[in-house]
Amino acid sequence: MNEESTERDRTGSEKDGGLFNAVCRQFDKAADLMDLDPDTRKILAATMNEVTIHFPVKMDDGRIEIFSGYRVQHNDVLGPFKGGLRYHPLVSPDEVRALAAWMTWKSAIVDIPFGGAKGGIQFDPNGYSASEIERITRRFTFALGNTIGPEYDIPAPDVNTNAQIMAWMMDTYLATVPAHQRSANVHVVTGKPVGSGGSLGRDKATGQGVVYMIEEWAKDNSFDLGRATFTLQGFGNVGSWAARLLKPFGSTMVAVEDVSGCIVNEDGIDPDELLEHVNTRGGVAGFPKARPADCDTFVCTPADIFIPAALESQITAETAPHMRVRLVAEGANGPTDPDGDAILRERGIDVIPDILCNAGGVIVSYFEWLQNKRSEFWDLEEIDEKLSRRMRDAYSRVCDTAKDCRTDWRTAAYIVALRRLARAYKDRGIFP
Ligand code: NAD
Repeated sequence: MNEESTERDRTGSEKDGGLFNAVCRQFDKAADLMDLDPDTRKILAATMNEVTIHFPVKMDDGRIEIFSGYRVQHNDVLGPFKGGLRYHPLVSPDEVRALAAWMTWKSAIVDIPFGGAKGGIQFDPNGYSASEIERITRRFTFALGNTIGPEYDIPAPDVNTNAQIMAWMMDTYLATVPAHQRSANVHVVTGKPVGSGGSLGRDKATGQGVVYMIEEWAKDNSFDLGRATFTLQGFGNVGSWAARLLKPFGSTMVAVEDVSGCIVNEDGIDPDELLEHVNTRGGVAGFPKARPADCDTFVCTPADIFIPAALESQITAETAPHMRVRLVAEGANGPTDPDGDAILRERGIDVIPDILCNAGGVIVSYFEWLQNKRSEFWDLEEIDEKLSRRMRDAYSRVCDTAKDCRTDWRTAAYIVALRRLARAYKDRGIFP
């Protein structure tokens, strides 16, 4: 640690309401059902490390602004901490804690040797220039110091962060290690630009994984994706890729919501045309081949599939009763709160839970990390094939567990993860 104002503590056991409390409720349900060993339960209910950093950055006009950034490391029994970095005004310790725990479960479900972590800086990057965002990123990375590391804790992109931000993080981290060790440390972040050690297929990985999961669900339900309609919340990395990758199946996107507004067209919204519009206009609002709508209309728009791919807590006691879909495929982390979840279950709406559905990103991050460590470069075909296998295997494990334990898919996904984590604790025991 090498920064002005930092705190490090173990506070995961405090259930202070909010998002981490929602994770605890999901966790408790699965732990009760599978009769999880009480000692393992205590360990997994807490985060391991939490770092808060308040740091100054010089703005383009010479002013100094103070930013608050967080990194929470939930668990590393299965491997190095792994998880994204988010830039958003609503980033908080509670949110980052929840997102870190979800990373632990996710890596365990898809059987990759990573633990769970997450980070964030509380600010809206839309209000800052590229050079300010670069300085904010570099200063936070420097302040994190040895909190991150290629064999210890490996960040990746999340909401409002991308390959460019990962390149700045990597470059800053490498500047702090001896010159002869730099090229051996590029796996300190994943989701880098391909020319700087990134992997082919990482940009589309999460959306691709979502589509593999929808494909599996369609097979199980003898459902023709060629006639499917879907609505999408969030047209960023995850959402835009999921929409574009569903297009070749013949599925029709009928409504999209992002931070700029909502658009609806029952005859179909072309995801490639929408992407061009978003790239030039910054959001879906004003897309000429759809009509604007309000948020309530968006929620009530009938479709076969809803893909939430924006932020948490969107499917709630307020919105879930109005949704007219057969399947929710959770591209976002935590889009459904426990009350919303119960309503979807009562209403017979299937849910592919986030910790399974959006695991494609961390899987291809793992592939990137492996390629860096081995000085290899895999082609896209190999990556897609390996991603598909891991996602579909995980789908089968969750499906079988749901049947065996007679439970919902989210609880089944937790049970798959918790069994793997409990086994590791049983093998290793607790030091001393
Ligand atoms: P992004 O920043 O690329 O896109 C976010 C999208 O959400 C944007 O279209 C934005 O306009 C929209 N959005 C933001 N606030 C909104 C609001 N209040 N209402 C409606 N739309 C809103 O982020 P992303 O990387 O696509 O991440 C989206 C979700 O997927 C997050 O929950 C993230 O944690 C999760 N996720 C991302 C990855 C990844 O690889 N990027 C992996 C797993 C899970």
